[in-house]
Amino acid sequence: MADKKSKGQERYDELAYEKKNYFEIASKSERKEMFSYAEGYKVFLDEAKTEREACEFAVKAAKEKGFSEFHFGDELHVGDKKYFVNRGKSVVVFRVGSKDMEKYGMRIIASHVDAPRIDIKQNPLYEEAGLCFFKTHYYGGIKKYQWTAIPLALHGVVVRKDGEKVKIRIGEKAKDPVFYIDDLLPHLGGEQMSAAANKLIEGEQLNLVVGGLPYPDDKVSKKIKLTVLNYLYEEYGMREEDFLSAELSAVPAYSARDVGFDRSLIGAYGHDDRVCAYPALTALFDCETEHTVLVMLVDKEEIGSEGNTGMQSKIYEDLMEEICQAQCASFRKVRYASKCLSSDVTAAYDPNFASVYERMNSAMVSCGTCMSKFTGARGKSGSNDANAEFVGEVRRMFDAEGVVWQTAELGKVDAGGGGTVAKFLAKLNIDTVDLGVPVISMHAPWELISKADLYSNYRAFLAFLK
Ligand code: MN
Ligand code: MN
Repeated sequence: MADKKSKGQERYDELAYEKKNYFEIASKSERKEMFSYAEGYKVFLDEAKTEREACEFAVKAAKEKGFSEFHFGDELHVGDKKYFVNRGKSVVVFRVGSKDMEKYGMRIIASHVDAPRIDIKQNPLYEEAGLCFFKTHYYGGIKKYQWTAIPLALHGVVVRKDGEKVKIRIGEKAKDPVFYIDDLLPHLGGEQMSAAANKLIEGEQLNLVVGGLPYPDDKVSKKIKLTVLNYLYEEYGMREEDFLSAELSAVPAYSARDVGFDRSLIGAYGHDDRVCAYPALTALFDCETEHTVLVMLVDKEEIGSEGNTGMQSKIYEDLMEEICQAQCASFRKVRYASKCLSSDVTAAYDPNFASVYERMNSAMVSCGTCMSKFTGARGKSGSNDANAEFVGEVRRMFDAEGVVWQTAELGKVDAGGGGTVAKFLAKLNIDTVDLGVPVISMHAPWELISKADLYSNYRAFLAFLK
């Protein structure tokens, strides 16, 4: 027989707060749901490795759910299900609700669909010492040494001289060839290994191996380069000059896999931020709500949300204004009443690197999706510090639906920091707070998350959109 709790212990349990492991407290059926939900997510991870592919996936999924394309100037009616594509690189999927927008605002979830990767330069192709390479320029915050000696796939588009846009996606099928950035053998790595980690591989050493077969003609000086050019011409109708207007990226050729004997975790490229984009999209499809709801899947977060496809672009503001106008609502009033989850990943507490975390305020793996009241660095610099009233409101939404969630900061004070799209939405006078899944090895070619946190994120979005 269990010992009876002391009065003090009872009182402590009643008053104190402790994070809980979601796997541990989930019902049997809920746990089953977590695992089956993860299967759909893995399909998304493998199909959508770039922002363009994520947009295509979202549009296809939305069409299947009865959504249709929206253009500026279109009429909108209550109940309309629409998607708006921005240059093929970002997409807003939305539903017009019956609730008065001036009074209740919009419910917005914003995630990003770009991820750190190795971009190909505009004049990339050269031959040297029996090999053919592409020059590259990395995108986003990476540890460069992690991207060497792994299989890489090539994704993107080439806009040819004739204006034709050709899609390239090579390295994902089992029989496809892959590409490769080499590293130095340890036998000769003495000097390299004594360098600082950010100097182990320099940016200009991230050259992608793309060929090695000489073209059978002794009169040609660059035989291997010709073999590659010849392949590109026959396969894609492109000439070397067409690289000038191409957007090609090397991404890890790995597919998403379960990790661990118990399959509780998922390893994949680009959980940041697909692990928020996918739950946002599926929650929008699955939610029952009278609110007008928007899911924004945006580009260029990893380089500061710049450009006309990043969150700082006016296009999102324009779209929201169009939706308001179509409903004869004042955009100003609607913004003021709107609520937004800026949904991006955070750093999971990593026991192997405990010194950069403050345990009490770290995101613990499997304890649910994580709210960050503020992000930023040093004295909260660059942060959207959500106000307590809004945090309290979101908290009540989650609690009402039994969502298992937690709060955290990204690392200990002064250890570093980060930020995402929250501040750009908050600037529009929209109540905004960060929420997302804790990730281990963020920005590595293969990142790790927990299926419990993925599912918690989906549940949190359902509660928020309700
Ligand atoms: Mn992110
Ligand atoms: Mn990131």
